[in-house]
Amino acid sequence: MNREIENLMHLIQASPSPFHTILECEKQLQEVHAVKLDKAAKWNLSSGNIYYTNLYDTTLIAFRVNAGYQAGDGVRIAASHTDWPCLRIKPSAETVTGSYAKLNVEVYGGPILNTWLDRPLSVAGKVVLKGENPFRPRICYVDFARPILTIPNLAIHMNREVNKGVELNRQTDMLPLAGMVQETLEKDQYFMNALAAELSADPSSILGYDLCIYNAEAPCLTGLKEEFLSGPRLDNLTSVQACLSGLLRSGRERGIDIIAMFDNEEVGNMTKQGAPVFKHVLERISLGLGLSREEHLQAMMDSFMVSADVGHAVHPNKPELNDITNKNYLNGGFLIKMACSQSYATDCEADGIVEGLCQKYEIPYGKFLNRSDLRGGSTLGSFSSSDLSMMTADVGVPLLAMHSARELMGVKDQETLTCMIEKVFSE
Ligand SMILES: [Zn+2]
Repeated sequence: MNREIENLMHLIQASPSPFHTILECEKQLQEVHAVKLDKAAKWNLSSGNIYYTNLYDTTLIAFRVNAGYQAGDGVRIAASHTDWPCLRIKPSAETVTGSYAKLNVEVYGGPILNTWLDRPLSVAGKVVLKGENPFRPRICYVDFARPILTIPNLAIHMNREVNKGVELNRQTDMLPLAGMVQETLEKDQYFMNALAAELSADPSSILGYDLCIYNAEAPCLTGLKEEFLSGPRLDNLTSVQACLSGLLRSGRERGIDIIAMFDNEEVGNMTKQGAPVFKHVLERISLGLGLSREEHLQAMMDSFMVSADVGHAVHPNKPELNDITNKNYLNGGFLIKMACSQSYATDCEADGIVEGLCQKYEIPYGKFLNRSDLRGGSTLGSFSSSDLSMMTADVGVPLLAMHSARELMGVKDQETLTCMIEKVFSE
């Protein structure tokens, strides 16, 4: 197995929630002695160091001020997102049907709902506990790390039309089964009791939580020659890992190299820890290096970003749904995503820079465009590119079954994306 696929499989297993993704990123950055910056303190930065800052526990921005940095040097950026479509547990989640103990959930982002049925599911995320001071509650992270939930399908005998397609109701059809109701006392408390036990805390000390339900299956290789990786959360942990590895494998004389992993792309970016925060962080990096605002704005105009998020490979059974001349198959290399609507931020010059790098270093790649009669997704690239007015290329590994509870990719593609990001930070 190649190294980057190994790294990716490790990250998937270490990432049952975006909170855990950030913890894992911090761990890897600490291994190279990166310096953590407090988001609420003054930053004093100097060249030759790697720094990172964690914003609200689901967004992380890390950067290297290269040893030969000179005031006014531009920045190079690789960005990605840390969230994925899933189910989230609502407060007061216990809801009982007969003897069955279920949980009330809401849908985060746009998952393919039916792929969440009949899977072993678990729960992970952030929990807030009472502290001494109401403004300083205790924060902890939890991962049940074993299958505790399942959403059973209806038997075909109870819905003979099932293979014609079924519409699932987000409120009534997606509630996971958590167990059997034990006794009246437990009836309203079974989940809170289980959560408290997991944290070795008193149930009454739990003030709130952001908990994700996740597919507890491990990723695995598949295909006659292990050509594919099948796993949960490939959108967008492929890109998070490529940003991390790309930064850690690279190095250049001048400038600043930045990786940014933002939360909330799947729900439109517009949150305190979403892509809009980037502008402020970039300005603070410049201020921390002693630049004036004018010098900062000049440097931004001499900068370049690749925004990494997954794209669509040609589907083996529905090849007609991709563009008629720009066709990409798994294992053909990462994608440069383009759209004249600028729903992907790439323009011909940004495309040319990425293609130039790929041709120089013999990195396989393809170009992705949607069929002209299909509306594709949008990315954080288009948002950040306009927010910062920065030249940006939208890139990402091709997937099949995007937003399924289990997605599919080619094992060769992860290295191509990583290598391209490495070269952005090296050339
Ligand atoms: Zn994505």
